[in-house]
Amino acid sequence: MSLHARKIRMIMGLRRAGLTDTDVLNAIERIPRELFVLDSFHDQAYEDQALPISHGQTISQPQIVAMMTEALEVKKTHKVLEIGTGSGYQAAVLSRLCRRLYTIERYKSLLAEAEQRFHHLRLHNITSRCSDGSRGWREQAPFDRIIVTAAAAEVPQTLVDQLAVGGIMVIPVGPERGDQVLVKLTKQEDGSVSPKIITDVRFVPLVEGALPEGEGRPTPRRMEN
Ligand code: SAH
Repeated sequence: MSLHARKIRMIMGLRRAGLTDTDVLNAIERIPRELFVLDSFHDQAYEDQALPISHGQTISQPQIVAMMTEALEVKKTHKVLEIGTGSGYQAAVLSRLCRRLYTIERYKSLLAEAEQRFHHLRLHNITSRCSDGSRGWREQAPFDRIIVTAAAAEVPQTLVDQLAVGGIMVIPVGPERGDQVLVKLTKQEDGSVSPKIITDVRFVPLVEGALPEGEGRPTPRRMEN
């Protein structure tokens, strides 16, 4: 079966699963997921499953990407922040739906690969940086929407602070390798948030603090004497 046929089958599967937002499905149809997975998983790019990328991270299952994107209720005027660029797939899908997409990744090399994909696909409304995303992106706040694609032990208050009033955040919450739930929060006038659980999920952890050391640089050679 051709990649195109597989993609159509995947979209039909998403519809059957109740994901019917036409704008979201169109955005998914327009982004070639095969460019975001490792070469060895090319054939599986349109199966509804999460796949490994480098550094032990994963590109999320298409159904979860669709569900999170739909829950975010993105509009063309929105400024959106994503934490956890990974392969860049979720960012690419979102970039078709919003005005500007900001994305943060802690692995320099993952970010560099994602940036190449954005460039190749001419997704010019994406701005990215390498840092600890749990601190958000203060210079660009407030954001109309925030999506976190790694599981947090609890919702980082810094991110709530950077969300506009009336804004929506979608974030997986729960322990590493434990029971995690996908939560949708809406920020109220008084700054508080009203959380709603969407579904059970399994995500890699949101790692706070120092960035992976030396990552992306060649391993230093041992001095010979
Ligand atoms: N959205 C991605 C999948 C994300 S996997 C995609 O579509 O492919 C989760 C990513 O979050 C990993 O790449 C991981 O390195 C990153 N991550 C984890 N903690 C982070 C943090 N504090 N700041 C930025 N990125 C983080």
